[in-house]
Amino acid sequence: MTDLLLRSAQVTGRDAPVDVAVDDGRITWIGDRFPGAARRVVDCAGDAVIPGLIEPHLHLDKALLDAEKPNPDGTLAGAVAVTGELKRGFTHESVRRRAGQVLEQAVTHGTTVIRAQPDVDTIVGLLGVEVMLELRATHADLVDLQVVAFPQEGILQRPGTEDLLVEALRAGADVVGGCSYMEPTVEECRAHVDRVFALAERFGVPVDIHADLADDTSDPRFALAGHIADRTRAHGMAGRVTVGHVTSLASLGADARKRAIADLADAGVAVVVLPATDMHLGGRSDDGNVRRGIAPVRDLLDAGVRTGLSSNNVRNGFTPFGNADVLDIALFLAQTAHLGRPDDLADLVRMATEDAAAIVGIGDRYGLHVGADADLVVLAAPTATDALLDRAHRRVVIKRGRIVATTEHTRRLHRAADGHR
Ligand SMILES: [Zn+2]
Repeated sequence: MTDLLLRSAQVTGRDAPVDVAVDDGRITWIGDRFPGAARRVVDCAGDAVIPGLIEPHLHLDKALLDAEKPNPDGTLAGAVAVTGELKRGFTHESVRRRAGQVLEQAVTHGTTVIRAQPDVDTIVGLLGVEVMLELRATHADLVDLQVVAFPQEGILQRPGTEDLLVEALRAGADVVGGCSYMEPTVEECRAHVDRVFALAERFGVPVDIHADLADDTSDPRFALAGHIADRTRAHGMAGRVTVGHVTSLASLGADARKRAIADLADAGVAVVVLPATDMHLGGRSDDGNVRRGIAPVRDLLDAGVRTGLSSNNVRNGFTPFGNADVLDIALFLAQTAHLGRPDDLADLVRMATEDAAAIVGIGDRYGLHVGADADLVVLAAPTATDALLDRAHRRVVIKRGRIVATTEHTRRLHRAADGHR
């Protein structure tokens, strides 16, 4: 007897609904009609089933801070300043409460893997990392949590931060982060990137850098994509380096943009687009013809750059919106980045699932095939792109073969009895 059976599930690549059997946390069978019995059966009734959604870039430690104090002027500098101020009051308990709330919300929206980016700096020290490592253990039944040691305040301009990054990696952080744009000079920005790569090599972990969050590259500190690509090649880290934001790419002329993107593709550097934050903070100095500030997603995809999307921040100085729903971010990206054709929508779903899985390094055990981890979502829609457009709820969320969230939600239309009133 198998553990769990999804009956009549619409799966990408199949013309008709199929049965999906799960045993011992893995998918064991996909086909027309499962012949055996199951301990638990979910009747999908032709609704779409997709692999678990992934948030490859989420600041759980800083979520929900808007309730305490919002960004005074809506700029990136305002966000960094107000968050820095609020961080001084962080306690393990307050971070655990806010982060846990958003983590659980993400799970109800179908997220089964999160790469969290807790700040590591001389203000909070390792507090954020410690809470994330604790949540990684206490919530392991719901979600796989990866922890990035993220130097939000910079490295060179904040002496002591590099030692804290080392401590975070020794304590069990999975990834070394970077925030090169916080350094005051372009030489220091490059040195910041170099130190991040040195730590990656020393600890054998992937790299995930906040490269820039700029409207253009008039400031050379915001043109580091090429340097990150060079370092990736030099350290032999193709496929293990991600850059977030890189909004400056959108400002380059066609030829320069093409060269920069080809460089990222050649080096095997992935990009995670964070449109809710980027559109909110971008274009703040424009008093007309306001720039959008979103990395050029179509160009990145066409050039073969592995590209994902994520919420980044939820309801704080960087992004006063959000509910940790990756499909909501995908729809927002569709609406703001000229991604409206059917193949664009399919690409957005892939960015939120398979491509994100590759970015966070779990591609080998992820997906909807026999042998993959049974991280699955039953959508209240016949296809994944319908779910995107409908903002469909997630009927059932499954983590390693176990049902971890359900949503009961039925809309009914009540017509007048004679149909005319
Ligand atoms: Zn971020």
